[in-house]
Amino acid sequence: MSTIVVWFRRDLRLSDHPALAAAVAEDAQIIPLFIFAPYLLRHPEAGSGRIQFMLGCLESLRNNLRVLGSHLICRMGEQSSIVPAFAREVGATAVYWNCDSERAWRTDTDNQVAEALSEMGIMARTFEAEALMKAGGRETYALENFTPHWHRILNQPVMPRPSALPEVDHRIQDVPLRTLADLGLLPTDQEIPTAGEREAHRLLCEFLATKAPHYMKSLSVAEAASRYTSRLGSHLKFGTISMRTIYQRLQIRKTEVGGWEKRNLEGFQSRLFWRDHFSQKLRNLPRCETESYLQVFDTVRWSNRDDHYEAWCNGQTGYPLVDASMRCLNRTGWLPFRLRALCATFHCIDLFLPWQMGARHFMSKLIDADVAIDHWQWQSHAGVSNTGRTWFRVYNPIDGMAKIDPDGTFIRRWVSELAEVRTEHLAAPWKHGIDYFPPLVDHGEARCQALLVLEPIKSRYESAKLSKFEKQADGK
Ligand SMILES: Cc1cc2nc3c(=O)[nH]c(=O)nc-3n(C[C@H](O)[C@H](O)[C@H](O)COP(=O)(O)OP(=O)(O)OC[C@H]3O[C@@H](n4cnc5c(N)ncnc54)[C@H](O)[C@@H]3O)c2cc1C
Repeated sequence: MSTIVVWFRRDLRLSDHPALAAAVAEDAQIIPLFIFAPYLLRHPEAGSGRIQFMLGCLESLRNNLRVLGSHLICRMGEQSSIVPAFAREVGATAVYWNCDSERAWRTDTDNQVAEALSEMGIMARTFEAEALMKAGGRETYALENFTPHWHRILNQPVMPRPSALPEVDHRIQDVPLRTLADLGLLPTDQEIPTAGEREAHRLLCEFLATKAPHYMKSLSVAEAASRYTSRLGSHLKFGTISMRTIYQRLQIRKTEVGGWEKRNLEGFQSRLFWRDHFSQKLRNLPRCETESYLQVFDTVRWSNRDDHYEAWCNGQTGYPLVDASMRCLNRTGWLPFRLRALCATFHCIDLFLPWQMGARHFMSKLIDADVAIDHWQWQSHAGVSNTGRTWFRVYNPIDGMAKIDPDGTFIRRWVSELAEVRTEHLAAPWKHGIDYFPPLVDHGEARCQALLVLEPIKSRYESAKLSKFEKQADGK
């Protein structure tokens, strides 16, 4: 009987798992493997909270495999050497895994593993667990091509969950890597959401049954968004549920409701689409992990005020709506979309700090942090990747309160110093003689100063009719 190693990565589930399903179809001895990579654990964008959540997902996968008669083997080290060495150790004939292009490092590692295995005469088979196309330039992320591809892939049948798996030889060493301390990481004081495949399915059911009707109108309101969005982000990040499963359940639900309820579901679907579209773009433009899509913006002399950056990270900018958001992010690892956007524009436009610094802090705190979504959103809110009329969307951290937190509940919850302050004084406490952090900058003035630098670049870009910049952005 042949032996296949199934290498789990950001696909910590048993349902709709192409690599596992293919191995099961071969009637082989199957050995599930997970490797902790020092590169990812020590990356400046890594965060103990997110890794704690991942450990929870691994625990759930381990239990689910045990129920089927199998056993998850964990190791730590350079994946490019551990995978081939492990395959040799267990006498594998093949290693199967799902592609993951979230970082250029992952793609490079995949190539190195495949090469090393082929030199050893061991088959390497990769699968596509996401609704993405192979990297192939602009055509693959042009909406007219990507959109039909996305729907086509997500309409394909969900791959079955195995009902039993072969036993794993107990002599194969499984390194006990169960806690942050085992991984050499500091503890986290973040509130970690429940992890695992079962929880992901529960969240989906809950969203479709009770939250979806409130979805669209809650997106811009801090308290409502916390209650009515799906919270599936961290599960999509670690693959405890597949996009296909979500998509197909969504289509069924859409046939059951009409009118505004259906529009909410369409709104949700469009956000799932943008998630994958960002991933498709990053797969083709891996340099955007660190560089601006429009590279000309990386030559701007951005501010280097470390004190401003520290104050922003710690929620001490003097603007309570920004401060409450940053403190919520730091503590819970989650923030509604509108507040992520507000904090991003405050960082890039008001404080004129480069988007890469803000993205690094977000990535280190968000449990759902995903390079593709996070870095494209940061670039978009910094105005370094956009075209068209939404180029510079600058949120007002004072007036914004009227819509985002009309009665001040969110601010009071996170900025306890202001718990007793009247609602009408909460947005700009310095105007009312309230003892609080003084505002780091004047919003109106800072916005004008920033746009004075950025707008002319935008105008030059537009008058060049996109061509030169776009070619540069695509690396042509
Ligand atoms: C500066 C900034 C950084 C962000 N960083 C991330 C990130 O690292 N990871 C992340 O998942 N989302 C990110 N978002 C997008 C969005 O804020 C979150 O996806 C959403 O708030 C997560 O909550 P939820 O899981 O309840 O999402 P829901 O609103 O229930 O949406 C379901 C899923 O759709 C996707 N999605 C939702 N909104 C967007 C969007 N605007 N663009 C792309 N995909 C979307 C996510 O996968 C999300 O989990 C960011 C937004 C901004 C403005």
